[in-house]
Amino acid sequence: MLEIEDLSHRYNDHLALEGVNLTVAEGQLVSIVGPSGCGKSTLLRCIAGLIKPTGGKVVLNDTAIDGVPDNLAVVFQDYSRSLFPWLTVRDNVALPLRRRGMGRQRRRAAALEALKSVDLADAGSKYPWQLSGGMQQRVSIARALAYRPALMLMDEPFGSVDAQTREDLEDLVLTVRGTGEMTILLVTHDIDESVYVGDRVIVLGRDPGHVRADIPVKLAGPRDQIATRAEPEFVRLRAEVGRLVRGGRPANPTRHEPKLNVDH
Ligand code: ADP
Repeated sequence: MLEIEDLSHRYNDHLALEGVNLTVAEGQLVSIVGPSGCGKSTLLRCIAGLIKPTGGKVVLNDTAIDGVPDNLAVVFQDYSRSLFPWLTVRDNVALPLRRRGMGRQRRRAAALEALKSVDLADAGSKYPWQLSGGMQQRVSIARALAYRPALMLMDEPFGSVDAQTREDLEDLVLTVRGTGEMTILLVTHDIDESVYVGDRVIVLGRDPGHVRADIPVKLAGPRDQIATRAEPEFVRLRAEVGRLVRGGRPANPTRHEPKLNVDH
């Protein structure tokens, strides 16, 4: 559903991305990791149509992106700047639904349903500043979920919440992925998280930003914060992604390991 073809982006004299190719199937959750400054946010901004790439193109459902597409939602790390403080939580979640042409009653019902799914059913009439940081980020996620986008982009969405909330939000994203309705790209600097939530981990390299590796994540059974992280395959993938992010060479794949595409 998403095709990134030979994407490059230059900020004045700085080449931030070069020759990025990526195809994402509908319903996949793709984690994007890489060292700081490798172009992760630039890549997301190009996909979101917030910046126009200086080379190549992004095609979403057979249409080249030129401006912010309608069927897209973005969740940023900085929840404090992404919610309107003068609107209640419910109205924050309902606001983008106007773009969907929904009437007032339907917007309100959809907002309440989304708030319920992030365990904030009782917070609808509060204001964002009356909630903790983790709760505010759940409101941002509820707003994205209520919109039912075909594609959800998440830029370090759990970067500023405490460890317990972070795990809860990771599991919430896995629940959304389980419905198969949404394709999700999640940028994170947390290697464990990239493997835990991802169907695939894309490792970006820097100077200029490029795809270093595309690693399928095949883990046994439903993901679970304790059991999954103890699985030998999880431990192997985490080490492999960590090595690649730090610029190391990939471990020699054995014939038992899933296919690993890496630039050499
Ligand atoms: P990441 O998200 O991986 O940390 P970014 O996409 O934010 O990386 O940035 C990639 C590179 O582009 C960095 O070297 C950064 O300094 C540079 N960069 C990002 N935004 C701008 C901008 N608006 N103007 C100039 N350079 C930028």
